[in-house]
Amino acid sequence: MRRRLCSFVGPAIPEIKTKHRDLNYINNMMVNINRYVRGWNTAFVVWGGSYIFCIAFSALLCNAEMYSEEYYTKLRNRMVSEQIIARGVGDEGVLNAMRTVKRHLFVPENLHDRAYEDTPLPIGFGQTISQPYIVALMTETLKLDRSMKVLEIGTGSGYQAAVASMLCRHVYSIEIIESLGKEAQKRLSAYPNVTVRIGDGYKGWKEHAPFDAIIVTCAPTHIPAPLVEQLKEGGKMVIPVGEMGNQELVLLTKKEGSIVQESIIPVRFVPMIDSTGTTY
Ligand code: SAH
Repeated sequence: MRRRLCSFVGPAIPEIKTKHRDLNYINNMMVNINRYVRGWNTAFVVWGGSYIFCIAFSALLCNAEMYSEEYYTKLRNRMVSEQIIARGVGDEGVLNAMRTVKRHLFVPENLHDRAYEDTPLPIGFGQTISQPYIVALMTETLKLDRSMKVLEIGTGSGYQAAVASMLCRHVYSIEIIESLGKEAQKRLSAYPNVTVRIGDGYKGWKEHAPFDAIIVTCAPTHIPAPLVEQLKEGGKMVIPVGEMGNQELVLLTKKEGSIVQESIIPVRFVPMIDSTGTTY
């Protein structure tokens, strides 16, 4: 009976054992898979983490490199060779001033990385900082030297005044938009031979006249008589003249009381306005 029972139960036991073994096997397999996956998870976390860290770190380094002074110096030198010398401006003093004045400090912070591009850029209140080539060309045209007193109409960012200040005795600059003028005054505190005033530049700056040179960076539709009056005998004025879309940059030279006018190139400047915002 026992035998029988055994023989009856007998065949069932290995079956159960087999099931147990299978379960064990599956269990072990699952444990191994789990370990394997956990291993990969850990590897993934470690490698992924390092990868992200490396990317973030290089981006940080890149950023630091991008916004370093050396980076801007490189851009400035490239601007001078590719945009200015390449177009025929050769005056060493002007080129040196353009290589020295940090143009990126004259544009809003979000445009720092575009400061050395071949283009005017917005400086707020619908106004623009002129294209670097135009600044260089206008400055060269005036043939400045260290004895000269210069009047600028349209301070804007203050960039043109800073460039001219490196080549003359003093720059008097007038800006009609108060906020722009005040901002420029702050920026130009690093240039002790520049004085900025808020006012209407059409009328010039009688207290400091006559001027050896006058540089106008906003365009009236006619040449302002007060500016001609305040120009010294033999002095030069560079000014954009004309209606929006049809302006010409002209050089005026005062010779024996009368004015000799030469056209330089077609240009596009913001209009010269009076205190009510009306274009002159
Ligand atoms: N020289 C500037 C460019 C300025 S854009 C620079 O380097 O950034 C021309 C500027 O002329 C503007 O800021 C504008 O507000 C100013 N402007 C326009 N009419 C003016 C006027 N009658 N008197 C003084 N500034 C004037």
